[in-house]
Amino acid sequence: MTTTAFIGLGNMGAGMAANLAKAGRDVLAFDLSEAALDRARAAECRVANSASEAAGQADVVITMLPAGAHVRKVWIESIIPHAPAGALLIDCSTIDVESARAVCAAAETAGLASADAPVSGGIMAAEAGTLAFMVGCADDRFETVEAVLKPMARAVIHAGAAGAGQAAKICNNMLLGISMLGVCESFALAEKLGLDPVRFFDIASKSSGQCWSLTSYSPWPGPVPSAPSNRGYEGGFLTSLMSKDLKLAQEAAAKAGAATPMGAQAQALYALFEAQGYGQKDFSAVLQLMRGRLADL
Ligand code: NAD
Repeated sequence: MTTTAFIGLGNMGAGMAANLAKAGRDVLAFDLSEAALDRARAAECRVANSASEAAGQADVVITMLPAGAHVRKVWIESIIPHAPAGALLIDCSTIDVESARAVCAAAETAGLASADAPVSGGIMAAEAGTLAFMVGCADDRFETVEAVLKPMARAVIHAGAAGAGQAAKICNNMLLGISMLGVCESFALAEKLGLDPVRFFDIASKSSGQCWSLTSYSPWPGPVPSAPSNRGYEGGFLTSLMSKDLKLAQEAAAKAGAATPMGAQAQALYALFEAQGYGQKDFSAVLQLMRGRLADL
C-alpha cells in the first residue's frame, strides 16, 4: 500500500490529512505541535517522530507549511536526504515562486519527483475536501499528482511547469484582493451618496460591476447570507493571509520586472488594516476601514 507522509498539520493540513486517511490512504503525519499530532491520531493517521522519519517511509510526501523558509528547510534538510528513490514530493503551502522552483529542482537532482500545488479555499474547504489545487509539474507527471490530491479536492488544475502553481495562486489572489477593494470602495461611496447599499448590490450584481467579491462574498452584510460579513467577519480568508499573498505577488512582480500598481496599492491597504490589529478578521472587513467605521469591528 502507498504511504503518504504529511508534514504540517495546522489549520489547513489537519483537514487535508484527515481526508486522505478517510479515503483509505496510509497517512504518516508529522508536525512540531503535539496538539496537531493528537488531532492527526484522532483522524486515523499514523504519527512519526520527525519529518525525516516520515519521509523515509513514504512513496508520497506532502507539505503544508507557513512560508518559503519553512518549506526550504524541511525539504532540503529532512525530506530530500531521506525519501526513497522515486518518491513524489508535493508542496501545497503558499510560498514564493523562487523557493518553489528551488526545492523542486533540488528534489529532481536527487532522483525524486516533485510538484508545487498551492490551494484556493480556506479551512472549511480543507475540512470538506473541496480545495482547488493549482499544480506546477512536468506534463507527464500531472496525472499521478492529480490522483494523489483527489481526496482533498473539488478541482486539480495543471498550471504548467514547476513554480507555475505558485504563480497562478498569487496572480489569482492579487486579482481577488484588488476586486474586493473595488467592491468595498463602491459600497462606501454608495452609502455617502445616500444610496441604499443593498439596492446598490441588487443593481451592480446585474450590471457590469458584477464580480465574485460582490455577488458571492458581499462585504456588506445581508445580500449574501453565507458571506463572513454576516458573522462579524469571523472565519473566511484572514486579512493576514491576504496580506501575505499580496506581498508574495509584489516580490514576484519586482523580480520579474512587471508593473502591478493596483497590486501595490492593495498590498499597502491590507498591510495597513492588518497593522491596525485586524489581521484575524476576514479580508472583506476592510470595508469598515473604507467607511471609517473600524470601531464597529
Ligand atoms: P498554520 O500555521 O495553521 O499551520 C502550519 C503548520 O506547520 C503548524 O501546525 C506548524 O506547527 C507546522 N510547522 C511549521 N514548521 C514545521 C516544521 N519544520 N516541521 C513540521 N511542521 C511544521 O497555517 P495554515 O493556515 O494551515 O496554512 C498553511 C499554508 O497554507 C500557508 O502557506 C498558507 O498561506 C496556505 N493557505 C492557508 C489558507 C487558510 O485559509 N488558512 C488558505 C489557503 C492557503
